[in-house]
Amino acid sequence: MLIVQKFGGTSVGSIERIRRTADIVAGELARGHRLAVVVSAMSGETNRLIALAHELTPEPDSRELDALVATGEQVTAALLAIELQRRGIDARSFTGAQAGFRTDSSHVRARIQHIACERLLAHLDAGGVAVVTGFQGTDEQGNITTLGRGGSDTSAVALAIALKADICDIYTDVDGIYTTDPRIVPNARKMARISYEEMLEMASLGAKVLQTRSVELAMRHDMPIHLRSSFELVPGTIVTREDESMERAAISGVAYNRDEAKITIKGIPDHPGIAAGVFGPVADAGINVDVIVQNISEHGLTDITFTVPRSDFRATMAIMDKVCAEMGAKSVAGDDSVAKVSVVGVGMRSHSGVARKMFDALASEGINIQMITTSEIKITVVVDEQHVDQAVRVLHAAFELEKPREG
Ligand code: ASP
Ligand code: MG
Repeated sequence: MLIVQKFGGTSVGSIERIRRTADIVAGELARGHRLAVVVSAMSGETNRLIALAHELTPEPDSRELDALVATGEQVTAALLAIELQRRGIDARSFTGAQAGFRTDSSHVRARIQHIACERLLAHLDAGGVAVVTGFQGTDEQGNITTLGRGGSDTSAVALAIALKADICDIYTDVDGIYTTDPRIVPNARKMARISYEEMLEMASLGAKVLQTRSVELAMRHDMPIHLRSSFELVPGTIVTREDESMERAAISGVAYNRDEAKITIKGIPDHPGIAAGVFGPVADAGINVDVIVQNISEHGLTDITFTVPRSDFRATMAIMDKVCAEMGAKSVAGDDSVAKVSVVGVGMRSHSGVARKMFDALASEGINIQMITTSEIKITVVVDEQHVDQAVRVLHAAFELEKPREG
């Protein structure tokens, strides 16, 4: 098999960890696989470099920031290659440019356009191991670019696709995706498989293990990802295309996010353009609005409630005070202690009664639902933050997620 392995910051965070990572690479090589290895910077290193630049100026030039932070991955790629060579393995490090990662010119958040991987392939074909810096590339003019925080995951998946690898193994400090947070539900179960779509829904809810873009990319090209621990060599979770076994259960997991705030505008004159008038200025401020509910109007007035990340609560309230005065709304109220709890599963498409079961379970615990929103494979409720643990527990039990899935 041709495997692209990716090691995150904690897996290369020290010389000791780099030795351990070399053990894993050597082990796969001994099994007869061909390997390209993508590495992150040592954990904390990217933050350290950014902080150095900020000691000089609050707004460093983004081209120079990229030149700066790209060094983090070069350190770990070279060190891992050195350690592999010491063991007699024909390993060689490649920077983003050397590995052929061509990106657009949006510094600090570049997108990969193409990977010219001939040089890397030649090294693999000659029996060598390629150790590639994640997170970076170069644009058409040869400027160094980086892919946004957590971008090494995307580098690894993109390289796996370009090399037509059989699988992309992502080694990290967690050993897989669980049916919910084991800190809340101790008998939460590690999932053997999860679909790309479910992974995206779980990730956007705070189970932030893989960069979202890497999952979207893998989904588009049907590249399976094996998410696993570099600390303990046990099978992790395979993120892959949906199959029948996944549909057998109505729900795959329960996700939550405490980091939410809710804003309600009361008595706003109901006419075409109010939603645009309310949400336009919020979008202009770069704030992501999530759940939105608008009531039917009474006497020409309506209410709108929506949620934003808690860190944007104050800024959003300030915008709303201004907007509401302009639009003649009666009042604005905010609550920055709400949270989202969701049940996620592709099985929802073929099972009925999922919403009812969810609402019954929450009601049985006396948990008040403030807002509800759904997608094809997810139902989300907004509740008071103090009920999150209780809600997660009762939903995990109601859908019997502790029981192993068949198939
Ligand atoms: N080193 C980069 C970061 O910390 C990229 C990565 O680790 O994926 O964001
Ligand atoms: Mg990461």
